Amino acid sequence: MPKARELFDVQSVRRDFPILAERVNGRPLIWLDNAATTQKPQAVIDRLAYFYAHENSNIHRAAHALAARATEAYEQARATVARFLGASSPEEIVFLRGTTEAINLVARSWGQQQIGEGDEIVVSHLEHHANIVPWHQLAIEKGAKVRVIPVDDRGQILLDAYQRLLNPRTRLVNISQVSNALGTVTPVREVIELAHAAGAKVLVDGAQSVSHLPVDVQTLDADFFVFSGHKVFGPTGIGVLYGKQAVLEAMPPWQGGGNMIADVTFERVLYHKPPGRFEAGTGNIADAVGLATALDYLELIGRERIARYEHELLVYATDALLDIPGLHLIGTADDKASVLSFVLEGHRPSDVGEALSREGIAVRAGHHCAQPILRRFGHEATVRPSLAFYNTHEEIDTLVRALRRLSHRTLSISGR
Ligand code: PLP
Repeated sequence: MPKARELFDVQSVRRDFPILAERVNGRPLIWLDNAATTQKPQAVIDRLAYFYAHENSNIHRAAHALAARATEAYEQARATVARFLGASSPEEIVFLRGTTEAINLVARSWGQQQIGEGDEIVVSHLEHHANIVPWHQLAIEKGAKVRVIPVDDRGQILLDAYQRLLNPRTRLVNISQVSNALGTVTPVREVIELAHAAGAKVLVDGAQSVSHLPVDVQTLDADFFVFSGHKVFGPTGIGVLYGKQAVLEAMPPWQGGGNMIADVTFERVLYHKPPGRFEAGTGNIADAVGLATALDYLELIGRERIARYEHELLVYATDALLDIPGLHLIGTADDKASVLSFVLEGHRPSDVGEALSREGIAVRAGHHCAQPILRRFGHEATVRPSLAFYNTHEEIDTLVRALRRLSHRTLSISGR
């Protein structure tokens, strides 16, 4: 069988991303910080310029031609996101600033209404701070409890322990589909099934999954699904909350202002139905449109092809990293996507990050806004290269050579 790399023209894909031709510190840029943010194809850059050159207006308000163009582009973008996620209707898609804001909306609206004293909110040990802090805040306010799904020593969700956590007080389960710190792909389908059997709703954090795996919210049966545009080759400052229509319709607004109302007097306010009810004020119109272009671009390349290519690249990189003396991978789940977290004996993660940067290689070094899971493995920080479909086997070779040199230096100093 031909290898995925032979079926995937990565050089042609790379030409779509102008920033990949940059040089930093005299070397070609190697962008391996995709879990933090992804680079943008020319199509997205062009779409933003086109919007401001030909369509820019506020939306939903005026009778003039540009308002109609901008509204059409924005609502078309909503329909594109709905299709991308497999939602049953564009009305299930709320545009927000990003994953963080989407989770806060659910906590402030659904959570305020549905969580009471003694109720339980479940999060997995893998979660990003964005999927911990809002629940912690809500739990304190309401006298509710946050309970944690544990992971095994490879960073995999322990489904049995999770099942034992569920009880009639469990109202909501929050889980990342892909962990940003370890790369673990979690069994969200099973997690959702078990939660529903216990009468709880589920929020899936898709910030790290949508750029790597095909997602279908209806097949998953997720109640909420959230992601950020900038992590899926779209602009910053735009993100998405998907919610099942019936769930969104029962939720109160979380912010008040223009755009989200049907009628206002000083005595009473009538709100729009979702999604408008949750989009108070002037939103990020151009970037919503740019996000839709990013999703169209991704679909053109093919999410299955991307997943196959990236998986092969991840296996290649994993094998090569494991062969470096003194390097320890953190997170070795059977099912992983994109992320390779590691520590290198004798080097602080920040020093490794700086040494790699001098060679043009961008990786994240730190706690990745996921302190609980790093501490579960006894670390305050790791080095985290993270892949996207425009990365190449040659780039991995360059990374590995640079790490080998660092590793050699320590071993010769320590006399090993
Ligand atoms: N959830 C996960 C799994 C993430 O990786 C991130 C960002 O790194 C977030 C949430 C927060 O995303 P944003 O900062 O775009 O709101």
